[in-house]
Amino acid sequence: MRFEGRIYRPPSEAESVLIQLTVGCSHNRCAFCAMYADKKYRVRPLEEVMEDVDASARLWPRARRVFVCDGDALSAGHETFSALCAHIGRRFPALERISAYTNARDILRLSPEELDRLRELRFFLCYLGLESGGAAVLERIRKGASPEDMVEMAEKARAAGMDLSAIVLLGAGGRALTADHVSGTIAVVNRMRPRYLSFLTAMIVPHTALMTWTREGSFQPLTDREILREARDMLAGLELDDTLFRMNHVSNLIALGGRLPRDRAALLAQLDALLPRAGDRVTCICEGDRAMFL
Ligand code: SF4
Repeated sequence: MRFEGRIYRPPSEAESVLIQLTVGCSHNRCAFCAMYADKKYRVRPLEEVMEDVDASARLWPRARRVFVCDGDALSAGHETFSALCAHIGRRFPALERISAYTNARDILRLSPEELDRLRELRFFLCYLGLESGGAAVLERIRKGASPEDMVEMAEKARAAGMDLSAIVLLGAGGRALTADHVSGTIAVVNRMRPRYLSFLTAMIVPHTALMTWTREGSFQPLTDREILREARDMLAGLELDDTLFRMNHVSNLIALGGRLPRDRAALLAQLDALLPRAGDRVTCICEGDRAMFL
């Protein structure tokens, strides 16, 4: 298998075969993100990627899950992506699920028939960096999608029978937009009804606009207590039917998890107990080696 540059995958894909269809991210503008800052976006030749699938299948013939990298593999176009999914299905007889990081734009431009086709090919799980449901926050962090786009994307994916794993970034709006971040995220997540929901913390890392704005003073990062307060207030407002919630990424101040709504009261109690002890320090600014592992 050939991989270009540093490869990212969700923690829940630790057991999956990784196949790199695209290099980098076609958007690559989010103010907080340096994941693909050093990569020039391109789609790898499909033949080459299929050779990687063949080589992986020889090594792990019983693999059940495949994750397609990099930041937005569906940007390769429907023909290419569906041809790859079909090839993965042929080479991995025990295949249960294909997944990828997705964005609202890539799902919204697919027709219902194209989404059905991907579902038939076992592309079942879309990881979506929602980051925030607040319109002002999404605009400020240059996400390239509005709250309505996010909801519409979720509805389209669900209508095709796909699961959604939504990622929220605590602290993404800084001090100025924390109210928009909390209320907008509650409203959007309640409409999206994702099967999986993760809260991560917006870490301010080198080579990002967020780091520049922080140094200039135009972005005020939240303290540890304020970050936990956002998590608490968002959780308190969520009304979901059955969502697996996690807040256990390396960027999180504490590790929490449970099923919503069943465990909401227990999660809120844990956060309420922690809040008085949380510091007024800002620990989300991250330089040097630590930033490499986010
Ligand atoms: S957060 Fe996602 S969409 Fe935004 S630049 Fe990073 S990889 Fe691309």
